[in-house]
Amino acid sequence: MGAYEHCLKYAQPRQQFGKPIGNYQLVQNLLVQMLGNITAAQTMCFRLGQMQDAGTLKDEHASLAKAYTTVGMRETVGWARELLGGNGILVEHNVARFVADSEAIYSYEGTREMNTLIVGRSITGFSAFV
Ligand SMILES: Cc1cc2nc3c(=O)[nH]c(=O)nc-3n(C[C@H](O)[C@H](O)[C@H](O)COP(=O)(O)OP(=O)(O)OC[C@H]3O[C@@H](n4cnc5c(N)ncnc54)[C@H](O)[C@@H]3O)c2cc1C
Repeated sequence: MGAYEHCLKYAQPRQQFGKPIGNYQLVQNLLVQMLGNITAAQTMCFRLGQMQDAGTLKDEHASLAKAYTTVGMRETVGWARELLGGNGILVEHNVARFVADSEAIYSYEGTREMNTLIVGRSITGFSAFV
C-alpha cells in the first residue's frame, strides 16, 4: 500500500515530455496492476480474519494466503520501482525501502516454497517435503 500510495503521489507532479507521467497509459497500467494486487491480498486476508472468527481457519489457509500475497507484494513493489524510473532505486524516494522490506517478508514466517508445500500437502494428501 505504501509503495502504491507513494507512486500515485509521484505520478501526478512528475513531468516528462510536457505532461505528468500519470497521464501516460503505461504508467496508469502499472498503478492499476498494483492496486489489483493490493485489493486481492486485502480481500484474501479479510476472508482469513472471518474464518478465524468463525473457528474454521487452518494452517494451510494461512499458508495459501502467505504464499499468494507475498508473490503479489513482490510484483507490486517491483512495478513501483519501475514507475519511479531511476528514482526508484534511491532510498529517499521510499520505494527502494519497500522493495527491501518485501524481500524480508517474502522469506520470514515461512518461505513461499514451504508455504506452497504445506498447501500442496493439504490438497493432494502427499507431503513433498518430508
Ligand atoms: C528479516 C527476517 C526476519 C526473521 N525473523 C525471524 C524470527 O523472528 N524468528 C525466527 O525463528 N526466524 C526468523 N527469520 C528466519 C526465517 O524464518 C528463515 O530465514 C526462513 O524460515 C528460511 O530459512 P533459512 O533462511 O534457514 O533458509 P533455508 O531453510 O536454508 O532455505 C533456503 C531455500 O530452500 C528452500 N527450501 C528449504 N527446504 C525445502 C524443501 N524441503 N523443499 C523445497 N524448498 C525448500 C527454502 O524455501 C528457501 O528458498 C527471519 C528471517 C528474515 C529474513
